Amino acid sequence: MSTSRRRFLKAAAAASVASVLPSSPFEEKLQAQSPGVAGSAGAADGYILVTSANGVEAAKAARQALIQGYDPLDAAIVGVNVNELDPNDVSVGYGGIPNEEGVVQLDACVMDGRTMKAGAVGALEGCKTPSKVARLVMDRTDRVFLVGEGARKFATAHGFAVEDLLTARTRKIWLYWKERMSDIDDWELSAKEAEDPDVKWFLEKYGSEIFRPQGTIHMSVRSAKGELVGVTTTSGLFFKISGRLGDSPVVGAGIYSEGGVGSCGSTGRGEANLVTCGSHTVVEFLRQGKSPEEACLAALKRIDEKTHRVARHRDEKGRPKFNVNFYCVDAKGRTAGAAIWSGSKYVVGDNEGVRTLESAYLYRKGT
Ligand code: ASP
Repeated sequence: MSTSRRRFLKAAAAASVASVLPSSPFEEKLQAQSPGVAGSAGAADGYILVTSANGVEAAKAARQALIQGYDPLDAAIVGVNVNELDPNDVSVGYGGIPNEEGVVQLDACVMDGRTMKAGAVGALEGCKTPSKVARLVMDRTDRVFLVGEGARKFATAHGFAVEDLLTARTRKIWLYWKERMSDIDDWELSAKEAEDPDVKWFLEKYGSEIFRPQGTIHMSVRSAKGELVGVTTTSGLFFKISGRLGDSPVVGAGIYSEGGVGSCGSTGRGEANLVTCGSHTVVEFLRQGKSPEEACLAALKRIDEKTHRVARHRDEKGRPKFNVNFYCVDAKGRTAGAAIWSGSKYVVGDNEGVRTLESAYLYRKGT
């Protein structure tokens, strides 16, 4: 190793430790404050963030971080960390529903519209906050996407412990799912299981008919200076095939942020969004002059028209049986949430506070 490189590494070591430790100084500062308190006008005035319906607390945390002057991407990551660390959000991070083998595999991506750099991890095991690892892939490698064992080794190299991400609740839910899959294997359902409060909670929240729900959090931020960044993080499709990746960690599909144009991310059926590069499509529509809502609806229309044109994915009127949501902010700070089906919500945070709004849609439920 050359002397200059060694000297550089020594000097950089101290500076880098704080940024790579799983628990960052940002959170320590934030913990000392109560989230959601209205911020004073000032340097941070003019920021706006948009996130998915499960992101109310995340929006409050990110908003606090922005008010304190954090870099917008750090603020967005602080925000989604709330969901990643919450065992009761079974669609993201710790406590996410596992794959079909009972293993929690997480996907995340960050994108910085200032530099057009991105970092992503897929099927990452044993790490509660994949968004932080994605950020390190962006900042500390010359690459964009690490998956599976390689992503795990990279997380370990940066000080992330191997943690058990399955909670008592998600283990019960997974066992219930596994045991009811077939009458011709060795796994048997006990009569008590359907009465278990955790299993009942899951069935009430997500429904038992299809039994393949999913969830994610996306957050896009436009800073007061007009910088555009985004982060998407998920445990993906519930009970997925081991190694399955959806749209969430894929640049252009589950997230796309371009300086001067806009930032967008998605939740919902990843496969439909993957094959249409949905978030990139939304940003391209912004570039052509559409408003965020028009851009999201146009990209949803493309998903409807072009993907999943098979009977099992269509209702009696030929409409999709699945849903996709987009969350978007443009360079002017205009926001939108839109979905294929009515009933979706999105969350906006700005100087006024945090509020939940109805998403625009292509089709009204029940029609
Ligand atoms: N889009 C995610 C995936 O396909 C899941 C979701 O957002 O509901 O993994």
